[in-house]
Amino acid sequence: MDHLRRLGNRITIPIPTDESGFTGRECPNCKGYFKVQFGTGLKGKNLPCHCPYCGHVADHDHFWTEEQIEYAISIAIGDVTKALNKDLKKFEFNHKPRKPFGIGVSLKVKPGRPTPIRYYREKQLETEVTCSRCTLRYSVYGLFAFCPDCGQHNSLQIFNANLELAGKMLDLAMSASKEVAERLIENALEDCISAFDGFGRELCRMQAEKSTDADKARTLSFQNLSRVRQTLMNLFGIDLADALTSEEWNMVIQAFQKRHLIAHKMGVIDEEYVRKAGDIHAIVGRKISIQEEEVRGLINLLRKLGSCLSQKIQSATEES
Ligand SMILES: [Zn+2]
Ligand SMILES: [Zn+2]
Repeated sequence: MDHLRRLGNRITIPIPTDESGFTGRECPNCKGYFKVQFGTGLKGKNLPCHCPYCGHVADHDHFWTEEQIEYAISIAIGDVTKALNKDLKKFEFNHKPRKPFGIGVSLKVKPGRPTPIRYYREKQLETEVTCSRCTLRYSVYGLFAFCPDCGQHNSLQIFNANLELAGKMLDLAMSASKEVAERLIENALEDCISAFDGFGRELCRMQAEKSTDADKARTLSFQNLSRVRQTLMNLFGIDLADALTSEEWNMVIQAFQKRHLIAHKMGVIDEEYVRKAGDIHAIVGRKISIQEEEVRGLINLLRKLGSCLSQKIQSATEES
């Protein structure tokens, strides 16, 4: 049984990557599917893997997909069958009858049909991320995720990438015609505020269990800054405005109010705006104006707010 013995009691089967070099993974806890590019993140042996969706941590060996396991088993069975066929071949014999009318005996080994290899294709995912902390390349469904290597959540990274994109829209606005420029500036304003909203919501949703009211923390909106500042104080005991001077905070409030007018009132100033925005130039019934540098200023302030919020929420919940 030389051929079989040579296989040993362990067969290593390399799992192929997809065309971009990614390997599919499946969380043993939530069954979520994601992909990583091995070798791009943390270096070292026996590093654990973090599920990007539920945060479950386990050895990399626990994250094979069902298709990969079936593929590996089919290859292993193929190898064993081949070795077995070769070994059995040695037992073939053919005794011809010595005398006429005698009985001849023979054994002929017919190799069994080869087991088909269960090939598979990795799935297409929606967001590809390069972790800002450990440089691992991974891809996931949806947008927000934990890094499978270092476990860092990507919410702040995604938020900052969105702010950068809004900055690029402002760059475009500078070389565009007046009407297009106005629209680009308004869209950039809208985009950075909805990015802040998405980021803030995700952050609170993740830490909801550690707040004073988990249901409320899960459904928080970040579109109304004054309100959310108060709510964050109640839920996590943190002050959102700490990151900014009071003048800066007022600038952000005004930008949020302008966005509210543009989104819901076709940009025409109303009583509510005058009351809430602290804009001394505002006249009811006139059109609001928003300048490119105003949105650039907002982007910088949101960057500060974002990193401060992320830090504060995490340290507030670690203490508790
Ligand atoms: Zn999971
Ligand atoms: Zn990472």
